Amino acid sequence: MPFKRNVYERAIYKEPAPIRDHENPFESMKERFDVAARILELNPGFYEYLVTPTRIHITAIPVVMDNGLIKMFEGYRVIHNEILGPSKGGIRYAPDINLDEVKALAAWMTWKCAIVGVPFGGAKGGVICNPREMSEGELERLTRRYTANLIDVFGPDKDIPAPDMNTNAQIMAWILDTYSMHTRNTSTAVVTGKPTELGGSLGRVEATGRGVMDVTLAAMEQLNLNANECTVAVQGFGNVGSVAAKLLAQQGCKVVAVSDVTGGYYNANGLDIDQLISYIRSNKGTLENYTEAEHISNEELLTLDVDVLVPAAKEDQITSKNAGDIRAKIIAEGANGPTTTRADEILKENGVLVIPDILANAGGVTVSYFEWVQDRMGYFWTLERVNKRLDRMMRAAFDDVYAVSRKHDVTMRIGAYVLAVGKVADALRMRGIYA
Ligand code: GLU
Repeated sequence: MPFKRNVYERAIYKEPAPIRDHENPFESMKERFDVAARILELNPGFYEYLVTPTRIHITAIPVVMDNGLIKMFEGYRVIHNEILGPSKGGIRYAPDINLDEVKALAAWMTWKCAIVGVPFGGAKGGVICNPREMSEGELERLTRRYTANLIDVFGPDKDIPAPDMNTNAQIMAWILDTYSMHTRNTSTAVVTGKPTELGGSLGRVEATGRGVMDVTLAAMEQLNLNANECTVAVQGFGNVGSVAAKLLAQQGCKVVAVSDVTGGYYNANGLDIDQLISYIRSNKGTLENYTEAEHISNEELLTLDVDVLVPAAKEDQITSKNAGDIRAKIIAEGANGPTTTRADEILKENGVLVIPDILANAGGVTVSYFEWVQDRMGYFWTLERVNKRLDRMMRAAFDDVYAVSRKHDVTMRIGAYVLAVGKVADALRMRGIYA
């Protein structure tokens, strides 16, 4: 038998599925991939090729800390696949990163790029560190040494990093500079998500949240919901959640709840998102003590009686424990991997339309692609052009995934995998295996 049994097969064979609420992210990517592979009747060789990361780099990063002592950090860069083009994906800084997470995130980048039709493969990087406890100087030295260690990996035609959790435009600027110093030419296209002064694209910061808004509106149309009558809850008020909340409110939705690390904030009459954004900026980056709303828990936010739920925080938020209590009609996954495989089944049974991460948050990499194109042309687009093209590509990607999921009578998540894996498999067939 070419494929390992996954949750769907276990259901058919009546084996009790293990209840896992904190999944191994690479395994959970594979379980969805398995279902798509079967629908596509992918031959076992292609299956093995497409599921296996092309290269895994693990690097030790010495940093002279502000106290003068050297501290070692562990960094990763996983290139999942380069079939459609140079590999692309963000770098995250967090204390609890592990290799399986980076491998899953790298694979998701491959599928994401294929779904929106940008000519990139997938990659992801990570460094185990706690950026909240590090000074700006320590973060700069960490970033520069990580880049120097991976100097042969990165390149505008090889592997192009971008921001992800706890990394930003400044960190991209340090990568650009370090890379350019080593290669002895200014290479702006080696990273995306950099400051606009250094070749960044207008609209890149807002791109992921804007893409979430695009696909949410498309899903509302499918369900005959009117944006003006829809209520929304957003988990996470970072770059993705805050922009998605703001843009959905601009479209007429009533955003009744948002949350951050300090918990959830609920107001049945609708929250003033602009006010929340200014509040968080002036309150050391948290919503703590915000008074124009009732304080609720993260768990309560997820199960509110709303039309749309946008999980835009982190992995494993919607699990077998709370999926049955979710009342939203649409879930638009701003975060990567917020829903476990078991939760997917419950949501499917309950008729919740889940717009999967690899579609819903692909707006970021789409505008990263626009940035890379602009850097290479040396000609920069207006914000209007960036947004218009992004909206068009996200809508088209939604329609494509929706059509595939209808055709095979599967969820949009499985539809998204079928579309993505099918595209990459076709390209592999054309390229063939170099021997
Ligand atoms: N880190 C973002 C993601 O997960 C963006 C990656 C990119 O722009 O390359 O999609």
